[in-house]
Amino acid sequence: MALQTVLEELRNRPGTGETIPVIDPATEEQITEFRDCGVAAVDAAVAAAKAAYQSGVWTDIPARQRAKVLWKLGDLIDEHAKEFAELESLDAGMPPMQAEMIVSTCAEFFRYYAGWCTKLNGSSYQVQMEGGVNSNYSNLHAYTTKEPYGVVGLIYPWNGPLFNACAKIAPALAAGCSLVVKPAEETPLSAVLLERLIGEAGVPDGVANFVIGYGATAGAAITAHPDVEKVAFTGSTEVGKQIMRDSADNLKKVTLELGGKSPVLIYDDADLDMAIMMASMGIFVHSGQGCVCGSRIFVQRSVYERVVQGIAMIGDNLVLGGPKDEGAMISPLVSQKQLDRVLGYIDQGKRDGAEIVSGGYRLDRKGYFVKPTVVTNVDPATSRLYKEEIFGPVATILPFDDDDEAIAMANDTSYGLAATVWTSNLARAHSLGKRLQAGMVGLNCQLTFDHNVPFGGYKQSGVGKEFGYEGIDAYLKTKTIWAQL
Ligand code: NAD
Repeated sequence: MALQTVLEELRNRPGTGETIPVIDPATEEQITEFRDCGVAAVDAAVAAAKAAYQSGVWTDIPARQRAKVLWKLGDLIDEHAKEFAELESLDAGMPPMQAEMIVSTCAEFFRYYAGWCTKLNGSSYQVQMEGGVNSNYSNLHAYTTKEPYGVVGLIYPWNGPLFNACAKIAPALAAGCSLVVKPAEETPLSAVLLERLIGEAGVPDGVANFVIGYGATAGAAITAHPDVEKVAFTGSTEVGKQIMRDSADNLKKVTLELGGKSPVLIYDDADLDMAIMMASMGIFVHSGQGCVCGSRIFVQRSVYERVVQGIAMIGDNLVLGGPKDEGAMISPLVSQKQLDRVLGYIDQGKRDGAEIVSGGYRLDRKGYFVKPTVVTNVDPATSRLYKEEIFGPVATILPFDDDDEAIAMANDTSYGLAATVWTSNLARAHSLGKRLQAGMVGLNCQLTFDHNVPFGGYKQSGVGKEFGYEGIDAYLKTKTIWAQL
C-alpha cells in the first residue's frame, strides 16, 4: 500500500469531530489530516466487535486456525516492512534503520502469539474438603478453563505506534477477543495499513475495529462504554489514572503500561565503556521518548566525573535528524507540544540552579530537535526536572557513595518501570536487583527486549504485564467448573 494511498485513505475516513493535522516532526510540515472519528464511530465499533464476538466467528474457531491467521498476519507485516518503516519514520520521525528493526519485531509478535493459541490450558484440582456442603456429593472434581474477555479496548501512544499496536493486538486476537483499537491522534498512519492487513490475513469482519480520534473523545468513549469488558492502555500515568477512574462504572478490567523515571546505577568496578555507551543510548535513543529510558543516572563517586563527561560526549556526537537526513541516528521529538514540554523542563532546571553539562537547547533548524542534554547538580527533593517524567533526551546524573545511598535515591520515586545496575560484582548486582523497586531490572544490560519475557511496571508505572504468557493471560478470564463425577 503506497504512502499516498494511506494518506488518502486516512483523509477520507468518515468522522464527525475536529479536523486533526498529521505533522512530520522532522520538518514540521503537514503530511495529511483527518476527522476525529467521534463518539458515534466508537459506539459502532463496539457494536460490531460485540456482534462478532457473540457470533463466535473468531473466538469459536479451532485454535489452530486462529494461529494460522496470526502467523499469516506476521508474514504480511514482513512483506510490507518497507511501507511500514516509511510510515513510522514519517509519523514518529524514526531513522529508517530503527523503524525497519521495529517493524520486524512487530511481525514477530503475531508469530509468537500464534504459538500460544493452542496452549491456553486451564488446570484440574483435587478437592480436599469432604465435610459441610461437599458431603452431599461423591467424587467432586474441579477444573478451570480460560475464556477471552470478549470486547476489549486497546489504546496506545505515539512513541512507537506500530510496536504498541502489535504488542496489544497480537495477544488479544490470540486469546479470541474482539477489538476496538485506538492509535494516538499524532501518529495514525501505520494503523491504516495494519487494519487492512488484519483483514487480508483472514481475521473476520467486525473482530478488529480501528477508531482514530482524540483521547478525550474516542479514547474516553471506549473506556466509558458498558460493552467493553477490558481496556489495555499504554500511555502517561496521568491518563492511566483517568482510565482507571472511568472504568469503575462497569468494573472494567485494566492493563496499564505507564510512564517511568528509571534509575541507572553505575559502579566503579563496571565495564565503564560499555556502561557509559548503554546509559547514553538508554536515555538519548528516540530522543528519550521511550517509557524505559534511564533518565536518572547514579554514579559511584570515584568514577562520577568520567561517566558524566563520557555521557555528555556521546550525546554531543549523536547525529540528530529525520528519515531523509543522511546518517541520522536520533529522531526528533514527536510534536510541538512535546518540544515545549521538554524545553520547559530544561528551563525550569536552569532557573533552579541545575548545571547543564551538555545540550540543553533546540537545534537551529526545522523539526522538533532537542540536543541530548546532561544535567547535574539538581536538588532531588525539589527539582521537577529530576522527579517528573520528561519523555525527552534529558539525563540527570548524581553521585553516590554506597549501596544504601544508591538504592535510596533509585527507589525515591512514584514510578517503578525499569532499573539498571552496572557492576562486575555479581553478588552485589543480584542483591541490588532484589532491592530495586521496578518491574524490570537489567544487570549489566539495558534496553533489552524479548516477546517471551514479561514487561511492565511497579508502583505508578503500571498495572499488569505485557509480552510472554502474562501478556495473553491479560486477555483471558479464568472460569472454575465444579463437577460431581
Ligand atoms: P497519553 O497518555 O497522553 O496518550 C496515550 C493514548 O491515550 C493516546 O492514544 C491518547 O489519545 C489516549 N488518551 C488520552 N486521553 C485519554 C482519555 N481520557 N481516555 C482514553 N484515552 C485517552 O500519552 P502520550 O503522551 O501519547 O505517550 C507518552 C506516555 O506514554 C509517556 O508517559 C510514556 O512513558 C508512556 N509509555 C509507556 C509505555 C509502557 O509500556 N510503560 C510505553 C510507551 C509509552
